[in-house]
Amino acid sequence: MLNTIIPFMKPDITQAEIDEVVDTMKSGWLTTGPKTKQFENEISLYCSSEKTVCLNSATLGLKLLIKLLDIKEGDEIITTPYTFVSTCNEILHSGAKLVLADIKENSFNIDPAKIKKKLTKKTKAVIPVDIAGWPCDYDNIYEILNNKLYSPEKNTIQECFDRPIIIADSAHSFGAIYKNKKIGNVADFTVFSFHATKNLTTAEGGAITFNSFCNLNIDTIYKNLKLLSLHGQSKDGYDKLKLGGWKYSIELSGFKCNMPDILAAIGLSQLKRYDEIIERRKNIFNIYNNELNEDPFILPHFKSPEKETSYHLFLLRIKNIDEEKRDLIIHKMANKNIACNVHFIPVVMQPFYKKLGYNIKDFPNTYNMYKNEISLPLYSTMSEKDVYTVCRELKKIVKNL
Ligand SMILES: *Cc1c(COP(=O)(O)O)cnc(C)c1O
Repeated sequence: MLNTIIPFMKPDITQAEIDEVVDTMKSGWLTTGPKTKQFENEISLYCSSEKTVCLNSATLGLKLLIKLLDIKEGDEIITTPYTFVSTCNEILHSGAKLVLADIKENSFNIDPAKIKKKLTKKTKAVIPVDIAGWPCDYDNIYEILNNKLYSPEKNTIQECFDRPIIIADSAHSFGAIYKNKKIGNVADFTVFSFHATKNLTTAEGGAITFNSFCNLNIDTIYKNLKLLSLHGQSKDGYDKLKLGGWKYSIELSGFKCNMPDILAAIGLSQLKRYDEIIERRKNIFNIYNNELNEDPFILPHFKSPEKETSYHLFLLRIKNIDEEKRDLIIHKMANKNIACNVHFIPVVMQPFYKKLGYNIKDFPNTYNMYKNEISLPLYSTMSEKDVYTVCRELKKIVKNL
């Protein structure tokens, strides 16, 4: 009966995206230029943040911010083991100590109380992760970081904040809401991902959003991030090629992770219909919630008086099952041509991180949330019929386990 595959995700690309890319290709300018600039401005408008820097990925967004904040060996950054590995990899790359705090019970997000326990004088930043698009408890995190353990170095961005800095890994939560604010305008710095699997895509891509802080000039911070994204070069290719504009200087040893206009073009047309994309995801989320609102299913958080998710992932949990049974359910769903997933295998269960000495036993909440989690297919072009099929097959499989 079931002969077509229900994939886990599918990018939502219409003629509008194709036209915008073709327009860029015919414009004579392919890499970072006017469309990237426009995409940055429109992201700022969308999130009500003052500034946005577009990049090739969220991963490099994290790298640039850690570099901008001059975090290095001898410093510490706190994040959670319940994340995609890039969050942790970037901390390791900087030479800083990767300090992991467990998630909250019955939540996929970092526990502010656990952050408090891990805080030292060396803590320079905290990276909360909005898993599945559900915002972290930012106000509680700010409150904890405002305590006076901290001793910042003089004349640094750190001194001006006078507390560890919050870099939100909001790879999942573009469009999510925290206390009437859009994510992107809540943490000190926010990093988004526009990878092909995310809600809004540019194939590969990411962005950093931020607001002014202390008396630092926001344009200077923007310029420094741009420098870091393109070799530390004072002009990008677009400005260098303007008549008479050939001369440039190298002002620091930057990376190479700028967003090209061809990809910004995809993002621009995605952003135009992004509210509609979220609305469709929300509709699918609601069907799952209605159909699976029974034992042994545990439904994910999606809306509260303070928060609303971006409806990025549907993280279902199943009571009283272990990893082995969970994996079996996914296998049986695959036999029915339905692709499910797990978000995430905790970083501390990965061989490389185990070798570094991290151990899942130190993170009981992380393990408990992971062991019985199944991510169900969710994408804006998914038909309601397919959503009902997923529910029906899943219920059958779980019943016969
Ligand atoms: C996808 C993802 C990233 C990395 O995003 P890229 O744009 O692919 O670098 C980082 N953190 C989380 C939680 C993610 O899911």
